[in-house]
Amino acid sequence: MDQNNDLDNQEIFQTKRVISPELEAIIYQTIPILDHGFIRVIDYMGDDSAIVQAARVSYGRGTKKKSEDQALIKYLMRHRHTTPFEMCEIKFHLKMPMFVARQWLRHRTANVNEYSARYSIMDKEFYLPDLDQMSSQSMINNQGRGNIVPEDQAVDIRNRLKRDAEQCYDSYEYFLKEDEDTQKAGLARELARMNLPVNFYTQMYWKIDLHNLLHFLSLRADSHAQYEIRVYAEEMLKIVEKWVPTVYEAFMQYRAKSMLLSKASIDILKRKLKGEDVAQESSGLGKREWGELVAVFEDLEN
Ligand SMILES: Cc1cc2nc3c(=O)[nH]c(=O)nc-3n(C[C@H](O)[C@H](O)[C@H](O)COP(=O)(O)OP(=O)(O)OC[C@H]3O[C@@H](n4cnc5c(N)ncnc54)[C@H](O)[C@@H]3O)c2cc1C
Repeated sequence: MDQNNDLDNQEIFQTKRVISPELEAIIYQTIPILDHGFIRVIDYMGDDSAIVQAARVSYGRGTKKKSEDQALIKYLMRHRHTTPFEMCEIKFHLKMPMFVARQWLRHRTANVNEYSARYSIMDKEFYLPDLDQMSSQSMINNQGRGNIVPEDQAVDIRNRLKRDAEQCYDSYEYFLKEDEDTQKAGLARELARMNLPVNFYTQMYWKIDLHNLLHFLSLRADSHAQYEIRVYAEEMLKIVEKWVPTVYEAFMQYRAKSMLLSKASIDILKRKLKGEDVAQESSGLGKREWGELVAVFEDLEN
């Protein structure tokens, strides 16, 4: 009877669903990010073939050769035919500083469950930037960083950040403290937490479909995103590459490393191809847009 049970279990555990072998190999593994953060893949559904399978339903045709499947995925990506990409899902366990979580949670298309500091006591874990991330305010981008500050200044800032976080955590513990002798009750956790700074770490489970994950990555793995969220997004891109390699390639080709060209920009390129010397003043573009266009094409000219 035991043997039969074992056989039954073996049958149960042999899934008929598609799996992605490279992703399977890293499932549950903790990938460290920043000083205390991490990413862990908890579960996923589908692979490259799930997208093709869904897309072919719309055309009423069966499975084709691998090369045709790859071409189809590229076509879907190029033409922003998005719903087949929603057939794949992935669930992460994430740990990040609270100020990163605030940016993260602006992405409304995921399912989220976050650590409750009303229910549980916060760990004494806070983010301290590495010295090479201590940069001054950018002079050209109001939302960005400029040069790294001198080392003595960076060390001073780090020391103060650490001191402040520790002091706040001390008070947090003090607020929570009960005293049986004097019958002093501890403050409710939901109130005690309010003096903790946003560099303290939080955790969440985050589930999202592939289409919306790619949208998230196109914004947060981009150079305009803040470093502290970008490092998570860059690691997630590597996970996407393992999970759905054809989608990853198409995404890099048609989204991440591509650029949306306005009509005015296309007109400039046409004029340039005809040999005309176009300057910003005669381009019809503002300084900022002109700068962005030149930044992409100056590599070609050098
Ligand atoms: C570099 C950078 C700087 C930023 N700076 C700021 C800032 O200064 N201040 C600030 O407040 N935010 C800022 N943000 C956040 C930004 O404005 C977006 O809120 C965030 O990136 C989420 O994007 P999203 O809405 O496209 O994503 P998601 O919420 O994941 O939505 C994905 C897509 O679904 C659709 N969608 C989802 N929900 C709705 C809805 N309710 N109605 C209509 N369509 C919906 C939209 O097409 C959307 O693009 C910044 C983001 C980046 C990347």
